[in-house]
Amino acid sequence: MNLEPVEAAFFEFLQERGLRQTPERQCILRRVYAMNGPFTADTLLENLRSSDSRLSRATVYNTLELLLECRLVAHHQFGRFGSYYEKSHGRRQADHLLCTNCGRIQEFCDPRLHSILQDAGQVLGQRVLHHELHLHGECLLLQSTGQCPHFESSKADPSSSSPALH
Ligand SMILES: [Zn+2]
Repeated sequence: MNLEPVEAAFFEFLQERGLRQTPERQCILRRVYAMNGPFTADTLLENLRSSDSRLSRATVYNTLELLLECRLVAHHQFGRFGSYYEKSHGRRQADHLLCTNCGRIQEFCDPRLHSILQDAGQVLGQRVLHHELHLHGECLLLQSTGQCPHFESSKADPSSSSPALH
């Protein structure tokens, strides 16, 4: 992915706010855009600290807040599994399916949903701008084996698209 427009948008936002574009902020932005799928702030922090242990928790959390404000990052609240973030620039809006047992989150994108929502908006006299859809389910293997297979596999790779809770 070409990060130039993303970095330019962030730089412009920081300038408007009278904030500096520090190497830390740039580093966090790049790491966020290297993550696949939704991630927690703690996963991001762990991931960043694996290459730079000097980054403080406050810097990472503050930068995430700034990225949210300028819409380069989206926020998802997955029930008891908590807050997740996700890069959002230049991405088609995706919906999410959450396993309520292991916390695995999978994305899906079905264009039929888009037309259903546009139709609903038209009937109600509004133009639909965006939506949030979180489906809650269970991994199929839970029923047959009594255990979700994703606890450990997603923990091993913090940038996995199927994050579990830590
Ligand atoms: Zn599961």
